[in-house]
Amino acid sequence: MNLASYAAIEARSRGRCYPETAPAYRSEYQRDRDRIIHCAAFRRLEYKTQVFVNHEGDLFRTRLTHSIEVAQIGRSVARALKLNEDLTEAVALAHDLGHTPFGHSGQEALNACMQAFGGFEHNLQSLRVVDLLEERYAEFPGLNLTFETREGILKHCSVKKAQELGELGRRFIENRQPGLEAQLANLADEIAYNNHDVDDGLRSGLLEPDQLAETALFSEQYAAVEKAYADLAPRRRVHEVIRRMINRLVVDLIENSRKLITESGVKNSDDARALAVPLIAHSEPVKKKIHELKQFLRHHLYAHYRVRRMSLKADRVVRLLFNAFNEDIRLLPPQYQEKLQQGEDGEAAQARIIADYIAGMTDRYAIQEHARLFEPSELT
Ligand code: MG
Repeated sequence: MNLASYAAIEARSRGRCYPETAPAYRSEYQRDRDRIIHCAAFRRLEYKTQVFVNHEGDLFRTRLTHSIEVAQIGRSVARALKLNEDLTEAVALAHDLGHTPFGHSGQEALNACMQAFGGFEHNLQSLRVVDLLEERYAEFPGLNLTFETREGILKHCSVKKAQELGELGRRFIENRQPGLEAQLANLADEIAYNNHDVDDGLRSGLLEPDQLAETALFSEQYAAVEKAYADLAPRRRVHEVIRRMINRLVVDLIENSRKLITESGVKNSDDARALAVPLIAHSEPVKKKIHELKQFLRHHLYAHYRVRRMSLKADRVVRLLFNAFNEDIRLLPPQYQEKLQQGEDGEAAQARIIADYIAGMTDRYAIQEHARLFEPSELT
């Protein structure tokens, strides 16, 4: 890899919590990426969704395909900016590991259930998955990832939580940025979901191209495609528009970030970390257009009555499961009861184990578990 001086460089890594010998044929960040791909939480992403629940259709994005798209966009930009592509990919593939079933409504419901016990936040849960919950290695709990990958996974964090996290949480207290690869993975996430939600929204019929014409990002590309290809079939036209939207955003991100990096004069990744503002960023005009598209999606897709109906069911399933387990922990599968016996005592520790169990569920597992607990005709 041809790396810029401001890229993450292994020789300057803050390392792993449990020291390990260096891999013979891989970089340290490749090893992180490989561990992520082999973990159970990664495979579960296939059956977790963001906007559409898994059984609603086979063509919608799942968290797995979303994460792969984030990695693809992240790697393209990383290579163009000579950032560390392996690290960007590792962060992109791990960034959603802690998500609950049923997307944001599942997370909100679990957070509400956990209010008296420290709350639930998917970002912190992703870190908990890679630091603690995965049980795959003889020598350590979790995946023992490098500091830089963990730093990228922890996108937001309250100051209170940050104080418990030591070095990893320090930037939230000191109001500093993470390394450039982490900044990039964050924006690659945004480019991926804004565009695939447009695509999935149109495919589902919840959105119409005419409505999307309200947004500059869509209408600019739509006009260009219509002009160039007057007779294109509707689905193909939409795909051509979305392809161009992604390209527009990726090119803007590369060019604007390159300019910001040059102007800042940063010499290495720690210089970038010392700053209060990110150097991986869209230009101001494009930022405004992204904001407009997000507002549009919030209003017309995420608040669509059909999405709300699914959210209501998701909310109910998560709350019912949590309350049932919390009232009688003997309903939990044996391995979770063992964790309760081995771990700390107290209501908060019990609630956290229940939250770990529920957060790890796929959409369909949560629906089945709900049926097993509450449908008298269902086998347990
Ligand atoms: Mg994401």
